[in-house]
Amino acid sequence: MRFTVYTLFPGLVTPYLQEALLARAIREGLVEVVVRDLRRFAGNRTGRVDDAPYGGGAGMVMRVDVAAAAVDEAAADDPPPDEVVLLTPAGERLTQGLVEELATRRHVCLLSARYEGFDARVESLVTREVSIGDFVLMGGELPALCVMEAVTRLIPGALGDEESHRQDSFASGLLDYPEYTRPAGFRGLAVPDVLLSGHHGMVAKWRRREALRRTLLRRPDLLEAAPLSDEDRSELERLRLELAAGAANEPD
Ligand code: SAM
Repeated sequence: MRFTVYTLFPGLVTPYLQEALLARAIREGLVEVVVRDLRRFAGNRTGRVDDAPYGGGAGMVMRVDVAAAAVDEAAADDPPPDEVVLLTPAGERLTQGLVEELATRRHVCLLSARYEGFDARVESLVTREVSIGDFVLMGGELPALCVMEAVTRLIPGALGDEESHRQDSFASGLLDYPEYTRPAGFRGLAVPDVLLSGHHGMVAKWRRREALRRTLLRRPDLLEAAPLSDEDRSELERLRLELAAGAANEPD
């Protein structure tokens, strides 16, 4: 899988790729990342890629011809991008579902802007627009890294333990269950007994119930789309009753 990132600040992106699991995935050839400087397409000696907005107002707008030159360059790569993503707060929200979809692509091109973003005609050049959340950053570099990291961890071999992403929050449609490690006691807070029991069946049951409880308490909206068994539904009913009686809180 390949990513090509276009940015005015390659130096913000590349250091992040040189550490931890992302660096290992690149080293092992699971993913290739090419970071390119948008300023090469400025077409002037000053390297300016922005201009004042038509109609006036604050801020500067990045030129559409700069974006077009980047997209054209990427189109000549082998393989050419099967997805050209504009990072923008106005895009569709990045979700685990979208990450899974992007993980099926061979080459994802990521266009990251600065200032007030690109001239709106950039929309005609991209296959989708993606936002990492309802807040505004100074540039698209962190959003591009979020996309690359979230997608890379789905590539077989990128994580030490292949099981771990299957049980992550959202992968099953629910939030992840709470995890504990040593010490068993910490400042009066104990690890739930069942996790120390060595009984795998009971541990699995407890984890499912806690994932349901957490999701019900923190992100009930996820339950509408989550694939739930009859047992899950009965458990949720019990949790809702406990909640109504004020007793369904999460473990301390
Ligand atoms: N004026 C723009 C608006 O309100 O939508 C904000 C531009 S922002 C200062 C500059 C650039 O940062 C954006 O064009 C985009 O590339 C990136 N960016 C900022 N927040 C983002 C977010 N939540 N998701 C994706 N990209 C974002």
